[in-house]
Amino acid sequence: MEEKDIQFFKKLLNDRLQELLSQANGTVSGLKGNEDHYADPTDQAAAEADINFQLRIRDRENRLIKKIQTALDRIENGVFGICETCGDEISIERLKARPVTTQCIDCKSKEERQERLFG
Ligand SMILES: [Zn+2]
Repeated sequence: MEEKDIQFFKKLLNDRLQELLSQANGTVSGLKGNEDHYADPTDQAAAEADINFQLRIRDRENRLIKKIQTALDRIENGVFGICETCGDEISIERLKARPVTTQCIDCKSKEERQERLFG
């Protein structure tokens, strides 16, 4: 991969990471704001459902944050864009669509087929 492409993805991933981190902070303060006591049990249930929903979103965000950090590590280590399964280069088009991917399209679709069969 060319240096300009590396820089492109590095910026893309860093921007996305900052965006997610600031959102994550927003979710935490949102949760703190929900600590009021509800007189009505229906409100209480709704509030708990809302918190569960927010926690699920945060869980997904955390997983994505980890993936982005892994991708940035891979940039630092000079292995970004290399499929971790077969060692081939992942196409730029695929990386643009999914910068956190660690597998080429062939290995990914093989893995998905396996998951469908055995998962
Ligand atoms: Zn591969």
